[in-house]
Amino acid sequence: MATSSTTIHIRGAGPTGSLAAIALASKGFSVVLSDPLSREELLNRSRAYAITHSSRRLLTKLNLWNVLLKDLIPFHSLDLSDSASGGRVLFGLSDLNGANRRAEAIGWILDHLPLMELLLNHLQRSDSVDLLLGSAAPQPKSNDLIVAADGPRSTSRSQWGIRCWTFRYRQGCLTSKVALRGVQPGMAYEMFRSEGPLAILPLGEGVFQVVWSAPWGQCQRRADLATTQFLDELATVLPAGIEPDLLLDSPRAFPQHWSLARRLSRGRGVLLGEAGHRCHPVGGQGLNLCWRDVTTLMNLAKRGGISERLARCYGQNRWTDLLMVGLATDLLVRLFSNQQPWLLPFRRVGLEAMARNAWLRRISLRAMTDGPTQLLKPLAD
Ligand SMILES: Cc1cc2nc3c(=O)[nH]c(=O)nc-3n(C[C@H](O)[C@H](O)[C@H](O)COP(=O)(O)OP(=O)(O)OC[C@H]3O[C@@H](n4cnc5c(N)ncnc54)[C@H](O)[C@@H]3O)c2cc1C
Repeated sequence: MATSSTTIHIRGAGPTGSLAAIALASKGFSVVLSDPLSREELLNRSRAYAITHSSRRLLTKLNLWNVLLKDLIPFHSLDLSDSASGGRVLFGLSDLNGANRRAEAIGWILDHLPLMELLLNHLQRSDSVDLLLGSAAPQPKSNDLIVAADGPRSTSRSQWGIRCWTFRYRQGCLTSKVALRGVQPGMAYEMFRSEGPLAILPLGEGVFQVVWSAPWGQCQRRADLATTQFLDELATVLPAGIEPDLLLDSPRAFPQHWSLARRLSRGRGVLLGEAGHRCHPVGGQGLNLCWRDVTTLMNLAKRGGISERLARCYGQNRWTDLLMVGLATDLLVRLFSNQQPWLLPFRRVGLEAMARNAWLRRISLRAMTDGPTQLLKPLAD
């Protein structure tokens, strides 16, 4: 267990570092959480996250789920379609595993602001956490654990000499908040289009987060369009019957990478969240994968306390999940972001098989929402 002389230093108070601080403090550890950004800068990001059942389980364990419920927008159906082959699968609550079905949603969409407000307020009240925002990370002692949650450009990772396998997609991603007409209540969409996947995620009261992947040049061009032109162009790619009404923020384009650190620990340091890995946003896996890092670190620390062995075990434990999700998202993007005539019949037959076979839908939904490594394990709740 924790001793008064050992501290966990978490670098980075993004959604991963902040949740890790709460999780480790809840197990009795003394935590120092630092970030060069101020509270306002940490709150001020226009993003919304798709939340899966693996994240629900962690937030429930940390007594945060019920507090967040008012800000979580559930979706009960997921419409997955392939515009080039015409294949379509509709996932519903009955495709969830029994334990997940009790939560009465396939997933949830959560805006960045209420999430970060909750996490930072919780941290400010905690006696076990020293929250240092807008300042450099303090020097740790030799027996402290260092958790680098300092994002994709992690300086800790570079200092520890850890290199990454990286692949830059030709596709980028454009995110934006839009008021839409014609969407059925409780519905989320993932459409495979030849230029890249398009996700439409409900944020409540007719507002949606659009995650629009396309070649990088197209994303940049669309981000610079005037509002009416942007909405006109969006209207041409939305599912039939859905129309855009209003643009509610400035669309932002960002490049897409797959990357995985060649190791997730060095001595008493571990890489957490996007400091260790990134994947394509298709399927909304990113933040959930980061938070499964938090679950693993919390469980290992609870059992064995802080040691170099903990850091090593953490790295070994996370490898399979990160690799499988990274490969699965990459495969989806490669398979569906084209109009190769020889591929279209396979895509159509695959999606038709899934539309007809409940077992296939359950397995794929379970892998997406709990992680592929949990497929053969009973669920905790
Ligand atoms: C432009 C953009 C838009 C996105 N939009 C979406 C979206 O709409 N939906 C979605 O699901 N995902 C989105 N993502 C991805 C999502 O933001 C990440 O999955 C998530 O932020 C990862 O959380 P993290 O805490 O690991 O990293 P980050 O959120 O990057 O946090 C890292 C933190 O570390 C801090 N830091 C950096 N260096 C140091 C240091 N030396 N010491 C201490 N702290 C340091 C940074 O200031 C930052 O606060 C987007 C990403 C980007 C870049």
